Amino acid sequence: MKRILGVFLCCVLLISALPVLAEGLFTPGVYEGTGTGFGGEMKVSVEVDQDAILSVAILSHGETAGVADPALNAIPKAIVEHQTLAIDTVAGCTMASRAVLDAARAALEGACSDMGALEKAVEERAQAFETEAKACDVIVIGAGGAGLAAATEAAKAGSSVIILEKMPAIGGNTIRAGSALNAADPERQAGIAMSDSERESIEAILAAEPRDEWMEKWQKALSEEFDAYVSAGSTYLFDSPTLHKLQTYMGGDYVGNPELIDVFGDEALAGVDFLTSYGASWQPGVTAAMGATWKRSHNPELIYGSKGMTFIKPLENFLAQADCLTLTDHKAQHLIMKDGRCVGVTGVTSEGQPFEITASQGVVIATGGFSANVEMREAYNRHWVYIGENLSTSNHPGATGDGIVMAQEAGANLTGMEWIQLTPWGSLAIPQAAIDNMLFVNKEGKRFINEDNRRDVMTKYALDQTDSQFFLIYDGNIIVDGVSQTGNKVDELVGQELATGERFYRAETLEDLCAQIGMPYEALKKTIEDYNACVDGQADEFGRSLFDKKLGVAPFYASRTAPCVHHTMGGIEINTSTEVLDTAGNAIPGLYAAGEVTGGVHGSNRLGGNAIADIFVFGRIAGQNVSAQDALGLAA
Ligand code: ADP
Repeated sequence: MKRILGVFLCCVLLISALPVLAEGLFTPGVYEGTGTGFGGEMKVSVEVDQDAILSVAILSHGETAGVADPALNAIPKAIVEHQTLAIDTVAGCTMASRAVLDAARAALEGACSDMGALEKAVEERAQAFETEAKACDVIVIGAGGAGLAAATEAAKAGSSVIILEKMPAIGGNTIRAGSALNAADPERQAGIAMSDSERESIEAILAAEPRDEWMEKWQKALSEEFDAYVSAGSTYLFDSPTLHKLQTYMGGDYVGNPELIDVFGDEALAGVDFLTSYGASWQPGVTAAMGATWKRSHNPELIYGSKGMTFIKPLENFLAQADCLTLTDHKAQHLIMKDGRCVGVTGVTSEGQPFEITASQGVVIATGGFSANVEMREAYNRHWVYIGENLSTSNHPGATGDGIVMAQEAGANLTGMEWIQLTPWGSLAIPQAAIDNMLFVNKEGKRFINEDNRRDVMTKYALDQTDSQFFLIYDGNIIVDGVSQTGNKVDELVGQELATGERFYRAETLEDLCAQIGMPYEALKKTIEDYNACVDGQADEFGRSLFDKKLGVAPFYASRTAPCVHHTMGGIEINTSTEVLDTAGNAIPGLYAAGEVTGGVHGSNRLGGNAIADIFVFGRIAGQNVSAQDALGLAA
């Protein structure tokens, strides 16, 4: 196996120097300018010499960490690389992109004698490209959580790795994650008391009719575990990988693949430890993410700026000093198959340069789902009345199902494609509370569902409310020091109309909040009184079992929101070694897949917090297995 990254160029014709502008265009110096982004003013400095833009640096901004990063990273780089301000905005971060360009333009106005020369499109400056060829041991397609986990394991095992990422920045949907990582974790659950309703949930699972041998086996194991817990007189929150498996299988309506679920439950906690070993750290205790159904969601300490960054940054840091080359703006298009084995990838860069990369050990597809691909959504949907353009998505714009199409072209089987998850609300920029502090009310000020229900059920009910909209209500007990329980800085969001149509409100009194959101005050007041009685132990009319804090401390907050497309449960069929299976059920040599691009773990409905667990369980397995393959003697 090659230990050193074997990268070489067959026919290289890259932009080797800065595109030439007219000589003496600038007055040398460092200039500052401002623009306005989603989060307010952005300040940028631009350094020029007489003939060229040397650097663009963002000095300050108020954009949301993780979400705006693709623009903040890519646009300054592109201005310098192409010596123009005619740069395309980054999809999904349009306002942040424009803010950088406007601020750079304002800065350059004081420095440039011909601003028109700086507005020439990139194409006018592009040079002809020939195919660029590279070689390595392992290619990982997609730099989200699953891809980075696979790359980390492969690099750790000594393989040279190339990661292909089509977007200008890494992270995918994972970096946007507002959710957490589910894993049964006795240590972190020891301080949480088990409620009567949680006890009843376990009894109901034990009493359920087993659907197959797997379920029967898990129920038997759970029964023994729970008996031991009861006989020890324990009162802390019971949990185990077995309970996690059963809840995943039952929560997915028995549609999931029990073999994958078995591995998933057993390995979830190792995913937490894996991230910890690369620098992640976690809040004490665990919560239940929205739609999680049990308190086993691990919430990161926000040392990397946001939840999602915790699932990306530690691995990015490791890979930066490992035998790994990460190529952003590189879109994989086809798998190279030789004698039935996957031996590489072809694709194109965002500037139109074709590339061809060979992998002596294999290829891991980790390209995420297809929530942002309206055509694919409509083609596969069977269960929602509508799922087209009228619904927004919480996903990043790159979630277009490319890996599914590539794998299918190479003979892969697909599974569960019809199962598309809508979530009750759209943007993760909407401040959220942990599930036991969530209150949903419709425009009439009334609750309509138990907020600890499954996502699909909550969504169905939400779609039925007036205008298919509803409000999440919070107070000063839940949003502390201007930060929501999921890490959103609320001041930045008050009054902003998000692209998804969502809006966030704040008021010093409940009356004022109702006036702002057009809700009858008496109705909301009564709803909150009833809700608080449930926190005190009164049975909930909707059957909700998870409650934490009472509502009533100023200021009061409301997020107006609506359902959106959130996750695609189906995808490439894999086995427990993450090998991609063909339509006859045989593993395709050299081809692996992990993460949202695969189908089978989540069945018809993914539990909140299970996607993050999935990407680290199966991403790691993919990296371990592909790097254990004998290297082929491939020439690029
Ligand atoms: P997961 O949660 O399964 O890791 P993510 O959505 O977090 O999925 O990450 C998938 C990544 O794959 C995204 O960064 C996305 O831009 C990238 N991607 C999708 N299609 C391609 C492609 N054709 N070539 C390269 N990268 C891709």
